[in-house]
Formats: sequence, structure tokens, C-alpha cells
Amino acid sequence: DDIRITRALLSVSDKAGLIELGRFLAARGVELLSTGGSAKALAQAGLAVKEVATHTGFPEIMDGRVKTLHPKIHGGILARRDSAEHRAAMTAHDIAPIDLVVINLYPFEATVAKGAAYEDCVENIDIGGPALIRAAAKNHDFVAVVTDPVDYDALMEEMTAKGGGTSLALRRRLASLAYARTAAYDAAIARWMQAEEKDRFPRRFVLGGERRQMLRYGENPHQQAAFYTTSDRRPGIATARQLQGKELSYNNLNDTDAAFELVAEFEAPAVAIIKHANPCGVAIGKDLAEIWERALACDPVSAFGGIVAINRKLEADLAERLTKLFLEVVIAPEVDENAAALLAAKGNLRLLTTGALPDPAAPGLSLKLLSGGFLLQDRDNGRIAARDLKTVTKRKPTERELADLLFAFRVAKHVKSNAIVYARNGATVGIGAGQMSRVDSSRIAAWKSREMAEAAGEKESRAKGSVVASDAFFPFADGLLAAAEAGATAVIQPGGSMRDEDVIKAADEAGLAMVFTGMRHFRH
Ligand code: 5GP
Repeated sequence: DDIRITRALLSVSDKAGLIELGRFLAARGVELLSTGGSAKALAQAGLAVKEVATHTGFPEIMDGRVKTLHPKIHGGILARRDSAEHRAAMTAHDIAPIDLVVINLYPFEATVAKGAAYEDCVENIDIGGPALIRAAAKNHDFVAVVTDPVDYDALMEEMTAKGGGTSLALRRRLASLAYARTAAYDAAIARWMQAEEKDRFPRRFVLGGERRQMLRYGENPHQQAAFYTTSDRRPGIATARQLQGKELSYNNLNDTDAAFELVAEFEAPAVAIIKHANPCGVAIGKDLAEIWERALACDPVSAFGGIVAINRKLEADLAERLTKLFLEVVIAPEVDENAAALLAAKGNLRLLTTGALPDPAAPGLSLKLLSGGFLLQDRDNGRIAARDLKTVTKRKPTERELADLLFAFRVAKHVKSNAIVYARNGATVGIGAGQMSRVDSSRIAAWKSREMAEAAGEKESRAKGSVVASDAFFPFADGLLAAAEAGATAVIQPGGSMRDEDVIKAADEAGLAMVFTGMRHFRH
């Protein structure tokens, strides 16, 4: 199965590692064929290289659009070495075999990412490269194909071990990587064109992803898992740099994403503590260390082993407090040196920096796999501001209530439905998540605010004087009345129930101020 390499075609846009590979091949007597830029780089390094144009007797034409699209090249790659007919064709047409194809494609994705003009993007669609890759991958019985500089080492190692040859096992693995590369490349082109066409839900949806990391296991230990990133440049979990700590797990990644997206909602400094993708404490204010204490107070029991996200640079005073609790992950746009030094003492704690915050209003997609299909939707980038609110009760919310209402509703957007959030003075004081009935979420949130107050030795339930947010309308007055009973004085909810009138009447009778947002934030 081992095939000795006698002739290689090297045509790469990313010239990283090219010279080392060229030297290695030349030292093993491999003839090097190459295209314009790649040939130049190899020749400059003192290597003997034959231009494809010389090899084919046909020049590169049309600004490089046609370089390698020639039967002498494709025949040399595609010929079955064990077929008499193929060999006869090679002899008849003076076609020399090519046993190794090293290609990386025009940087289409990077060109789009840097916001280049339409024509520029089109010109960066590689044609000959994918053709070479697909041809070499098809003929992997005889030909090795390398599409990424990270694989040069594996190729050189095997050629060293096998006296200049490659094994079928390696060629197959490289071929599967090759088809994944051309598929992802065409997917990127299609996604870009669909975006240009404003075709958000195209008839054919394609998505490419690169494996960022294998994970120890999935949601549960019997499930295998890996983390993939797309070409989407949204700052957050996919762009994060891990400064310290154990390897991130599947659940860590999921929860950290939720935590960071939540704090990105707020213009003011904010802290969120997440467990099982739901917040167990969120607060905003001026000083992060003080905000942390209020976020933590919401539910210090659940915060144990939590994920913490902040939307400002992490500094020493907060870092110091974070070391007092067992936490799984801390994520921030930046971390200052002193804070990093303090957290270094917590060797297992994973510390991530992203460099920037994502724009919560930015458009994007969310995708959910079903059995045998998937659901695609716009990401929930809806954001309610004071001007969107409609007061429906006799009493208008006070200024303080209004600020808390907006805060609570933004938090509720990030809580699994049914979501009920009590908040007071820029901090959550009770969160009810994921219940099948809204009144249960309402009760749980109120019960939490009582329990936590009792545990902290406070005399009154923390829901007293709070506001309450509901991610969707109250279908009946009961959920609302549970909140009023707990001590909430104002309510924010989308409205739109058949029984809105009953609910408004109940609110008026309880002396509540209530505003409608007209926008719902289900999250499942
Ligand atoms: P070079 O820098 O060597 O001039 O060009 C290398 C690039 O050209 C590689 O990215 C390779 O995929 C691409 N390439 C090779 N052959 C062709 C071709 O016939 N047409 C086009 N459009 N690109 C090609």
C-alpha cells in the first residue's frame, strides 16, 4: 500500500512551512512542480522547482484563473497506477505521474472577514485549487493530498519512516480532510452569497465548522463531544483565550457562552453567575466588586461551582473576592495583571479573556438540531428600551421601578422559559426558571427570595419592594398575584394574552404598576 513519492505539486496561498516541506521533499529526490507565487518562494530558497506552465507547455492565463487546469496535471493526479489503460493514456499523452498534491486555497474566508469589496471576494474564489484537491483525494489509492500546513509534519514523519512513501491509511485520512476542506470552502462561498442576496433562510443551507478542541466527554460522560467554531467572528466563547485552569468541558462551554452573552446585554458594569445555563444571580452598578456581592447574594448556594461573567476588565478587588468561592470558569473581556496573579492561586479555575464584548443587537443565526433535521432562526437580538414600554395600569412605574423593570426583563431573556425574575436596585433577588407553568416559576422565584433572605438573617423577603419580569405574558392573574403577594410593586411582561384585561384589573387592585413590552423572550 505504500506509494513512494517521486513528483509533487505545491500550490499554496498560505506559504507557512512551504520552504521546510520543499527542502524535505527535494532532499528525498522528489521533483517539485509549482505555480507562480509558490514556485518563486521555493526558488528563492534555492530549491530546484519546475513551473507548472513549463511542465504543461501552457502559460498561466487570466490573472491566474487558469493555472493548473490542464490534462497534464489532472491526468498525472487522476491516473490509476494499476490500470494498463490509464498507463497507456499517460504514455500516449506524455503525462507524468504526480503522487503528492499540496494545496491551500485562496483566502476567501479571510477576504470576506476583512470586509473586502464584492469583486475582491469573487476574485478570491479558488477554482483550480479545489479541483486539484478533489482529484488527488479521489485517487487516494495512489496520491497523497495535503490541504493544511498543520499536516506537513505528519506527512514528513511518515515519509521518513517509510523511506519516502506514504501509507494508504494516511492517504485516506488526508483525503477525508481534503473533502471536508473543499466542502467548508464552498459552504463559506455559499453563505457569503446568500448574505449578499439577503437570503436568510436559503433553500439550501450549508455551514462549515472547524474543530477547535476535542472534549473529554459531552453533556454526560457516556457521550463523546468536540467543540467547533464557525467563521462567525462574534467575540465570546469561540474567540476566548484560556489563561489558566483545567480543560473546558462541554457544559462549561455551554454555560460560559450563556454567561457572557448575558452580561453583554448591559451598558453598565455587570456580573452574572450561571449554573446549568441559567443565571442564579445577576447585578449591575458602578463598582464590579460591589456588584459581585449583590449578584452572589441572590443565591449563594447555587453559585457554588458556578460560571462568572463580567463585562469589564477584571481587576484585583473583584478577583480577590472570586478566590473565596469555588468557581468553574471566569470570563471577561480583559484581565489585569494583579487580578490574573490572584486567580493563579486557584490552579483549577478556568480563566478566559475575549478581548471584546459581543454586540447583543447584532443579527445572527441560532440553530437547533432535531431528529432528522434542524431548526434555524434569527438569534434573539431583540432588546427592549424604555421607549418601547406601554404602561397599562393606573399607576405608572416610578423611575427606580422603571430601571429595575428594564434590567429584570433583560435578565429574563437569558433564563429558560417559563422565566420569572424578581429584581431590586439593579440586582436579581429571585429567579424562577424552566418550569412548565408560569405560576410555578413565579412561586419558585418568590420562595427563593424568601429562603435566601432568611438564610442571610434578613427579616423581610427580598421580593418586598422588588419588580418582577416575565418572559412571556401571564395567561392568568394567578402568577401576577403570586408576585404581588411576595411583595413586588411593579411588573414587566410582553402582554397579548386573551385575558390581559383580567390581569390588568388584578394588577390595579393590587396597586401594582405594570408595563407591556410587546416583545416576548422564550428561551428553550
Ligand atoms: P501561487 O501563489 O503559487 O501563484 O498560487 C497558489 C494558489 O493558486 C493556491 O491557493 C492554489 O489553490 C491556487 N490555484 C492553483 N491552480 C489554480 C487554477 O488553475 N485556478 C485558480 N483560480 N487557482 C489556482
